[in-house]
Amino acid sequence: MRIAVLSETDRAETRVAATPETVKKYKGLGADVVVQAGAGLRAGFSDSEFEVAGAAIAASAEEAVRDADIILKVRRPSNGELTGVKSGALLIGIMDPYGQDAALKSLADAHVAAFSMELMPRITRAQVMDVLSSQANLAGYRAVIDATAEYGRAMPMMMTAAGTVPAARVFVMGAGVAGLQAVATARRLGAVVTATDVRPAAKEQVESLGAKFIAVEDEEFKQAETAGGYAKEMSAEYRAKQAALVASHIAKQDIVITTALIPGRPAPKLVTREMVESMKPGSVVVDLAVERGGNCELAKPGEVVEHNGVKIVGHLNMPGRLAASASSLYAKNLYAFVETLIDKDSKTVAVKWDDELVKATCLTRDGAIVHTAFQPTA
Ligand code: NAD
Repeated sequence: MRIAVLSETDRAETRVAATPETVKKYKGLGADVVVQAGAGLRAGFSDSEFEVAGAAIAASAEEAVRDADIILKVRRPSNGELTGVKSGALLIGIMDPYGQDAALKSLADAHVAAFSMELMPRITRAQVMDVLSSQANLAGYRAVIDATAEYGRAMPMMMTAAGTVPAARVFVMGAGVAGLQAVATARRLGAVVTATDVRPAAKEQVESLGAKFIAVEDEEFKQAETAGGYAKEMSAEYRAKQAALVASHIAKQDIVITTALIPGRPAPKLVTREMVESMKPGSVVVDLAVERGGNCELAKPGEVVEHNGVKIVGHLNMPGRLAASASSLYAKNLYAFVETLIDKDSKTVAVKWDDELVKATCLTRDGAIVHTAFQPTA
């Protein structure tokens, strides 16, 4: 059984899909591991560290995937990266499959069984494989660190002989995994923190972290969580009430961190131009949803823009700004999943195709797109 770890070709991607630690574990399962040269460099893992852990280093992607039974990636590979791949090989990564019909067809045409880690069900058994949580947690932390760096004032209240510096007011919009970590981090730094969400369950979680919960708590709010624990897309009527509440609150904030997402949909627009214009110069907005269209109307992917003295931070790949930590957790998520796809006695790939984790994540197999949610439109 041969496992290949590829470099990331996307310039914005700093993470790597295996670490020396997980390479050792794969070796312990009886696998041969091949790492493409330089794959871990941007996350702080050198080729020699991978070699010490037991991996062979391949000069190119083509050399790495040759004869590989399992290919590990962070992002979906382009066609070129799969040149020479073995028919039936398993390809595991964050495939970002929504609206990507052509890319999914390419994966099917390459005859790989492609698994999309972000489709992993949020069930107890799969918690250890939950890449959305492991990465969002770091993104929420980093959003506060980035906001702090852009903000020209201190976060905690400071009483000094020269006078008092007031605590920063931080408002977190969307209190899922990233948002709750942002709340916790901002609290640790001494900010006065408020947070909002459309799911009622978020209220207690926000309050347990010592922040104040603010939301339009009407009948629609009570029904806003899907069976899967995600938010629904809210009605125009709810959005208008929410906007009125947010507009009066945001004007008093120093830092706004937005994290609101709806699976498979564009991010909800929560912060308008007028709201940004109501904020004091020197304030900061960090939009973690920028890759999904943004929660803030003025956010630009990959840029820090300034509008009337307010900085709007739209960094791409926030977990990648903590590449070593993010890779370490991501690699462990992958390892936990791979363990379920092999037979430990015969040391071979043995996918249980009717396992709910496999069914939820497998996009392509035997030359076809097999996932029911991603069937090509006619
Ligand atoms: P997410 O990234 O999909 O969205 C971020 C947050 O934005 C969510 O809390 C969502 O409710 C909120 N949101 C969406 N639209 C909004 C709007 N219009 N206004 C304000 N907020 C809005 O969420 P996530 O972090 O992936 O968490 C989703 C759910 O999964 C949560 O219920 C979480 O508790 C649950 N979860 C479960 C497990 C597990 O059981 N293994 C692990 C992690 C998360």
